[in-house]
Amino acid sequence: MTTPTKEFDVKKIREDFPILNRQVNGKNLIYFDNGATTQKPQAMLDKVSEYYSNLNSNVHRGVHTLSQLATTEYENARETVRKFFNAKSTNEIIFTKGTTDSINLAAYTLGKKFVNEGDEILITEMEHHSNIVPWQMLAEERGAKLKYIPLTDAAELDYSKLDELITEKTKIVSIVHVSNSLGTLNDIEKVIEKAHSVGAKVVIDGAQAIQHFAVDVQRLDCDMYCFSGHKLYGPLGIGILYGKEDLLDQLPPYQGGGEMISEVTMEKTTYNTLPYKYEAGTPNIVGAIGLAASIDYLNSIGMEAINHYEDELLGYSEQKLDAIEGIIRYSKAKVRKSILPFNFEGVYHYDLGLFLDKFGIAVRTGHHCCQPVMQRYDIQGTIRASFSFYNTKEEIDELVTALEKSLAVLR
Ligand code: PLP
Repeated sequence: MTTPTKEFDVKKIREDFPILNRQVNGKNLIYFDNGATTQKPQAMLDKVSEYYSNLNSNVHRGVHTLSQLATTEYENARETVRKFFNAKSTNEIIFTKGTTDSINLAAYTLGKKFVNEGDEILITEMEHHSNIVPWQMLAEERGAKLKYIPLTDAAELDYSKLDELITEKTKIVSIVHVSNSLGTLNDIEKVIEKAHSVGAKVVIDGAQAIQHFAVDVQRLDCDMYCFSGHKLYGPLGIGILYGKEDLLDQLPPYQGGGEMISEVTMEKTTYNTLPYKYEAGTPNIVGAIGLAASIDYLNSIGMEAINHYEDELLGYSEQKLDAIEGIIRYSKAKVRKSILPFNFEGVYHYDLGLFLDKFGIAVRTGHHCCQPVMQRYDIQGTIRASFSFYNTKEEIDELVTALEKSLAVLR
């Protein structure tokens, strides 16, 4: 765990999130479902409202003032994203619908270019279904083999298997940065280096990482990195696919339509340059602009400060919950981020989640779109509290009290 920073004014930060003032079931909302989606800062809400009230227009093809203003804002948003995780060029930033859409784009294009019969694709046992199913579909279509890096009992990837699993046959490795079901921060640098030694391309699912600490895609040297705007305090329906420019240049287009073309005749089409080659149709303009506003907001706090505060919060929550009798905590990795999955002996996770809701506490219950992880632990699901920098230790104390009261009834 990192050392907490002194000046993190959570009280002031909470004022930036209007939804945190509301009540649920007569109690102050305690929102611990940040892994599913994060709440929205006023600065982002204002930007979205301003766009529709004052700027609404379609981008790129208009000569009129509004279209040009909207285009400038949209392209500025791309630059904001580029800077946020240190991509080399805005040509490497593709606006998508979200992580799922980005991974599907990656699987389709990388698959078409690099995967043939008998080749291998490597993922891990701790992936979200979004980073399993597209690869299963690809493997089936191309006659390739899908392999998995297994989990250890300590909820970490078994890196001792890398030499055996990554071979000349491996064409793609796709791996989650931070696990949404276990909280594990994976040593993706190790996997990227090994994959590159055999010429395989590496896709990173950053859906649960990008909101918690500074990510630098050039330093990581991954080939692609995917995340969702709505988990980064931005709007729904917007996401990012980062891809190295020379790689994206080699890959085929994904969807066909307006904007992604250079010229269309009745016989054939030539394709637009990056990043537009991968943005067919009218893009989610307001989503991109709203996401940039959220990133500006996060930058004003600082990802370093966010990381330190959230680590402190997670440590506190683990210490408090571990003291409750009968808890089974699944987050056991050496390095964990903001996610606390647990169960209680003899108590169904779903029932406990419903009880917590009566206390105004929002947690997630179930398999968290990670059924292979649940199968590994031979359970149906867990309760997952996932934290943001707007959460407080007092809220965690309230969670503990609510758990104790609920368990007294349920046990
Ligand atoms: N990958 C991980 C690790 C996730 O946690 C999620 C969402 O929970 C996704 C992928 C899918 O994200 P989205 O539903 O925003 O596409």
